[in-house]
Amino acid sequence: MFLDPVPTQAAHARPVCGLLSDRFARVVRYLRVSVTDRCDFRCSYCMGERVQFLPRKDLLSLEELDRLCSAFIGLGVAKLRITGGEPLVRRDILSFFRAMTRHLESGALKELTLTTNGSQLARHAADLAACGVRRVNVSLDTLDPARFAALTRRGQLSPVLEGIAAAKCAGLRVKINAVALKGLTDDELFPLVDWCTGEGHDLTFIEVMPMGDEGMMDRLDHFLPLSALRARLAERFTLVPLVETTGGPARYVRLAETGLKIGFITPLTHSFCETCNRVRLTCTGELFPCLGQEGATDLRSVLRASPDLEPLQQAIRDGIARKPRGHDFDYSRGVPTGGMARGMNHTGG
Ligand code: SAM
Ligand code: SF4
Repeated sequence: MFLDPVPTQAAHARPVCGLLSDRFARVVRYLRVSVTDRCDFRCSYCMGERVQFLPRKDLLSLEELDRLCSAFIGLGVAKLRITGGEPLVRRDILSFFRAMTRHLESGALKELTLTTNGSQLARHAADLAACGVRRVNVSLDTLDPARFAALTRRGQLSPVLEGIAAAKCAGLRVKINAVALKGLTDDELFPLVDWCTGEGHDLTFIEVMPMGDEGMMDRLDHFLPLSALRARLAERFTLVPLVETTGGPARYVRLAETGLKIGFITPLTHSFCETCNRVRLTCTGELFPCLGQEGATDLRSVLRASPDLEPLQQAIRDGIARKPRGHDFDYSRGVPTGGMARGMNHTGG
């Protein structure tokens, strides 16, 4: 059972000595935290069917996650995205969200949010809203039940749609994330656009990345550059580029005819690393300053070696100072290069 936060950590949850920045002067304000590598789906671009999950003892406890996230917030991280694996399959995860609300209330944390496959959202949406979550990203690549079952290997579409409806009903803003997959989801473009327009959800497309290497689909075979999707959209709609940026990887357009906002995340065809403001924490406490490079800092051992905040924050600063210039994902030579053996579920998508 998760305990109430230790008061001394709450006291530290505000910037104490300047912002976290790397050697390219990028200021890190955004932490994505994988709270588990486990998942109830096996999306064929994300993990193998017979994936080996980590022993539970290797995972950070919820108390440890609290200490770590609070240390980051104390260093100026203002946005926390909880992810996985599937974050909502982790037992008692709502108590972690509840604990993080103190940072929203203090004003140190501006946004607490999550990325989910939606399968458990129906039963958690209202509680998440009560914890101060205002927006949620739900991954949904297809609206076709048979295709959904095939792509996720064991997922069902209807609970996900119910979860999305519950989120909307609870007042959460929903953004749908869809991985574009040649030969698999090409014809989902207009159904997704029309459905999101009708439901009032934002929509973002993502190019498939070479993350994870066992038992997954051939990424190159299914790689669909988003320029192709954009061109097809432009045949039916007027695309108005939006200058707004979240400091994140997406570039946005608005469809003039419907008002729908669409994001494009193009790690393969258009790098966005020069403005990257995010780092990732794995469920085992490794800090990855870049999704597409090795070079993690083991924060779990620092955390377990001492209850003090200072060594932990120093290790975080050091890890972020080593943030590389960018990833090296590349399909242009006809073979995927720059890929990572670790899967998205481990690193946190
Ligand atoms: N289980 C949750 C979900 O699916 O939303 C959160 C974790 S999942 C790893 C986060 C995001 O990573 C999802 O939107 C998923 O589609 C995306 N993803 C997984 N593998 C990917 C890959 N190889 N390339 C691009 N996106 C990927
Ligand atoms: Fe699970 Fe999300 Fe990976 Fe799909 S993309 S297998 S839902 S972690």
